[in-house]
Order: sequence, then C-alpha cells, then structure tokens
Amino acid sequence: MSKQKPLFIAGPCSVESEEQIIEIAKKVKKLGIDYLRGGAYKPRTIPDSFQGLGKKGLDFLKKVKEKTGLRIVTELVSPEHIEEVIKVADVVQVGSRNMYNYELLKEIGKRASKKPVLLKRGMSATKKELIGAIGYLKKHGHKAEIIVCERGIRTFSNGEYDRFTLDLSFVADLKKDKKFNYRIIIDPSHAAGRSDIVENLSFAGMAAGADGLMIEVKREGTTALSDDAQAITLKKLKYILKKSEEIYAL
Ligand code: PEP
Ligand code: MN
Repeated sequence: MSKQKPLFIAGPCSVESEEQIIEIAKKVKKLGIDYLRGGAYKPRTIPDSFQGLGKKGLDFLKKVKEKTGLRIVTELVSPEHIEEVIKVADVVQVGSRNMYNYELLKEIGKRASKKPVLLKRGMSATKKELIGAIGYLKKHGHKAEIIVCERGIRTFSNGEYDRFTLDLSFVADLKKDKKFNYRIIIDPSHAAGRSDIVENLSFAGMAAGADGLMIEVKREGTTALSDDAQAITLKKLKYILKKSEEIYAL
C-alpha cells in the first residue's frame, strides 16, 4: 500500500496583520504546501504578551483562504468561539494547554463534529491521557479526522538548549501501535524554541515515523509578535520540506 502524502502545515505563530498573513500565505502556497497555520486567539503564558487579533485575525484568515485556496489551521481556545472559528478553519487546533480541557473537547464533539481537529499533546500528557482526550471528542459526537501533534514535553532540559523536549519515542510508539489509527505530526518549532535546530528536529521527527510537520515561519527581516525566536524563514522551510519528503519516502 502506498503511503499518503506527508501533511505539511506552515505559517506564523499568530496572525498579526492582513499584509503579514497574505505575504506568508502566498509563499507557503508557492512551496506546494496546502495548509496555512496562524493563531487568531492565542493562549499565551504571560498575560501581557500579544494575545492575538481574535475575530479580526479570523477575518484576515478568511480573506487569505478565499485568495489562495489554502486550507486554514487555527486554534480554538474557548467554546464561546466555536461557531466563528469553524466558519474559517478547515482544521481546528486544540493547543497543548487545552488537551485536558474536557468541557472544550465535549463542545467540539457536539458543535464541530464534522471539522477535522489537530490535537496537540499536552506538554506533560501520557499516552493514556492523550487517548482519553481523543475519547472525549468522539464520545461527544466528533466524526471527522483527528490528527495528533507531538510538540515537546517538559523534562529537566528546562530551557537550557530547547524549550520542550521533542518526544520521538512517543511518535515511534504510536506509529507501531496497531490500535492507534490517527495521523501524528511533529511541531518542531515549539519543541525547539529556537530557529537553528528546527530543521534537525524536523528530520528526526520524520525519521521516527511522523506523518508530517507543523512549522512556524516569519517574514525575513521582521520580528514576530509571538514566538519570534523559533520562527524560520520561508527559504529555510523549502529546504526542510524537500529533505523531509525524502526521509518520509524511505
Ligand atoms: C501553537 O501551535 O500556536 C501553540 C500555542 O502551541 P502549543 O499549544 O503546542 O503550545
Ligand atoms: Mn507559537
């Protein structure tokens, strides 16, 4: 049986302006990527950090979708936003911090049952807990695809050389588990926390068996309003995708 095409998702951490998201989207599309990521509602660790543009960010994503035909991946942080998010999103992202938010998962199951979900593994979540989160979506009516994303877990590295430790064993295990029938992708950006090792983590993730990657990018010469240090340029992304496809085909 031939393998499905790898799933590549790229885009900024946050939607910052109409020009920013359009410029990045056009470049992402030029690289042959079908999925654009961009947060409108952002779950930030520090309350004074940029919180995202909210509804306005969703409007910019809608425009970009109409202009480019790209599929949109954007995060849902609260049941309150479900209807406005699913109008724009082709894939609803549930962030690491919300993997344990069972009320949110139940509402997605009920009110977004036909919308694919990208479920990010909680930063300290066990396999049982991840499977439990998937179970909440399904038990409450979710029917569309659920894609799992490994984005790094908390370990004693404590920010000395990465932001979170990318758990490649977890990915390899899930790919071997015959009972686990979900695609699993890697987010090297949030694991790395720094742009210079995003490529290494991407290749390692693909070698561990991942079905794809979600990578944060920014416009060259700019400072991103969130997660600037880990954002790579589109030029670098081109190289990562090419090599990742080669590893995937092995
Ligand atoms: C993100 O992908 O924008 C994000 C906030 O990631 P995480 O939930 O993994 O921290
Ligand atoms: Mn981010």
